[in-house]
Amino acid sequence: MVARVIPVEPFELVIFGGTGDLARRKILPSLYRRMKVGQMPPEARVIGAARGKMTRKAFQALVQEALSEFVAEADQTEADIQRFVEACDFVTLDALGTGGWAELGKKLRPDVTRAFYLSVGPSLFGPLAQRLSERGLVTPESRIVVEKPLGHDLASARALNKELSTPFDERQIYRIDHYLGKETVQNLMALRFANALFEPLWNARHVDHVQITVAESIGVAGRGSYYDKSGAMRDMVQNHLMQLLCLTAMEPPARFDPDAVRDEKLKVIRALDPVAPGNTVRGQYRANGVDGSYLDHVGNPDSRTESFVAIRADISNWRWAGAPFYLRTGKRLRTRMSEIAIVFKDVPHSIFPEVDEKRGNALVIRLQPDEGITLRMTIKDPGPGGMRLTEVPLDMTFADALEGQEVADAYERLIMDVIRGNQTLFMRGDEVEAAWAWTDGILAGWEAGSARPSPYDAGGSGPEDALLLLHRDGRRWREIEG
Ligand code: NAP
Repeated sequence: MVARVIPVEPFELVIFGGTGDLARRKILPSLYRRMKVGQMPPEARVIGAARGKMTRKAFQALVQEALSEFVAEADQTEADIQRFVEACDFVTLDALGTGGWAELGKKLRPDVTRAFYLSVGPSLFGPLAQRLSERGLVTPESRIVVEKPLGHDLASARALNKELSTPFDERQIYRIDHYLGKETVQNLMALRFANALFEPLWNARHVDHVQITVAESIGVAGRGSYYDKSGAMRDMVQNHLMQLLCLTAMEPPARFDPDAVRDEKLKVIRALDPVAPGNTVRGQYRANGVDGSYLDHVGNPDSRTESFVAIRADISNWRWAGAPFYLRTGKRLRTRMSEIAIVFKDVPHSIFPEVDEKRGNALVIRLQPDEGITLRMTIKDPGPGGMRLTEVPLDMTFADALEGQEVADAYERLIMDVIRGNQTLFMRGDEVEAAWAWTDGILAGWEAGSARPSPYDAGGSGPEDALLLLHRDGRRWREIEG
């Protein structure tokens, strides 16, 4: 099966921080892959910008190196790499300085869509937006792209929104949450709104609860000082898990267009109850003999920052009242896996008296590894000897179902959406602020208390307290397994 590719209009993408890690690992390889499948038109150009002095040739060599490191070998062909590299240019420029801006202005064509990707630290977002405007580089067809961290709390998120929205209209601002670019996450919307099967059951009358898990096996070694100022709540829950919760819980939008979808997501966030500290669990991983502990990795023995968090979130609306959403994310867990599990209620009356265990069906949407969907069903255990029941998965792995068709990286989809001017998969300013307002309440509850995060074993499934959070509600977490 061959994916349909619709070429986008010619564009110029300026990557501020074009020599940095995000540009080399994600942005440049994603653009290359889009060019390779014929989506990037020949007139398109990519302009890197950073403080380091560099000629166009030297930047092109850096791009070539990034492609050879981060693009699968099978996708690297000499001719394509040359073609892509030829489309790249560079300007030496300090976001906080005055030099280089005139040169950048000269390189941009007035009649071509411009996208400014701010692949730099968040303290530079405001100054860059302001300079772009002062230098007259913002045309009506310009877009600005930013990604997390979009603030540290509600106040800083508001300040950032203000800085961006002075020179740019909301319709020009693209706030990336790369989870929204994942094929499975978009499939969640297709599953819900393009099939009549699930929607009648998609509510608290039939759903017992929802579990959203984003588990990572790596720790924070190497980025400890950044992480210790952030923690799992700010780094993962406020953005990625919140977006997954919204797409799972939202009402069907009237249309699949940016504002209709984002209006519905916003309503979900606003319907979330404030969370009492007793409905949360914080954890920090301890050493497992080989690797260090969280405290070793951040170099701060007194840190109270969480590397794990579990939350019971309740949505007060007609659809979800009574069916909690349990969120869980952490570092140094058993394996790397992300999933959304919709756990349905048990049958109202069992006619199989010898079966005492509850067997609610579960619909599991796997984000990683092996993106796909599983429906856990109860069937008769084969063979004679009475009516025994067993569980089997009704399984669909996208890679198999789509006959080897390649699943594009989230950044490929998102960058092309920026060029197309489609904001459906990007967060709106009010959505980000509402998510921070909810998150701030939880953080304030923790700060007011004296409790420290609970320790958990590296390579395990999180602190004991997280198990109790569900046990006390008569439920249990799904296994963290690959
Ligand atoms: P990085 O590797 O440190 O790169 C930063 C880039 O910005 C470099 O090209 C640097 O080049 C340039 N830069 C720094 N100060 C500048 C200034 N004053 N004016 C112009 N350019 C400047 O950082 P990164 O990992 O790529 O991350 C960039 C942003 O993306 C951060 O906000 C990060 O939180 C976010 N992010 C990163 C990832 C990731 O996977 N890396 C994922 C999600 C979000 P010079 O020093 O030569 O100026």
